[in-house]
Amino acid sequence: MHPSPDEIDRYAARQMGIADTAAIRQHLLACPACRERLRASPFYPEQGRRETEVIAGLAERPGCPEPSARVAFAVDALAPERRTQITEHARACPHCARDLRALQALREGTRPAGERRGCLFGWKSRH
Ligand SMILES: [Zn+2]
Ligand SMILES: [Zn+2]
Repeated sequence: MHPSPDEIDRYAARQMGIADTAAIRQHLLACPACRERLRASPFYPEQGRRETEVIAGLAERPGCPEPSARVAFAVDALAPERRTQITEHARACPHCARDLRALQALREGTRPAGERRGCLFGWKSRH
C-alpha cells in the first residue's frame, strides 16, 4: 500500500505525528517510487530533500541492525530493549553511528552535529 498523495504532502510538510511519520519513512525506505513522489511534492522544502537521500543511502551491512531498525530508532518507534541494543551497537560501529546521527538530524529538522549553523529551525525558516 503506497501512501496517498495527501499523505505524501502532509509528510512533506511535517504535519504528521510520530507514528505516521515512522510508518511513511519505513515505506520510503523500501519504495523508490514514493521517494520520487515525495521529491515532487510542492510542500517538500529544498533542504528536506536530504531526507530521501539519507534514507536511500542506508545500506544493509552484515552484523548491523537492518536499515528499517535504524529508521525506527531515529523516530523513537522501537521497544526499549531494541533501542538499547542499537545504541550499544552504534557505540562500536561508526557506520551506524553516522546513520543514526543523520536520521536524527532529519527528525529535528537540523543538520547533523558538527555541521550545524546555530539555527534550530533550519529547515522550516529559509534563511
Ligand atoms: Zn510506495
Ligand atoms: Zn553497524
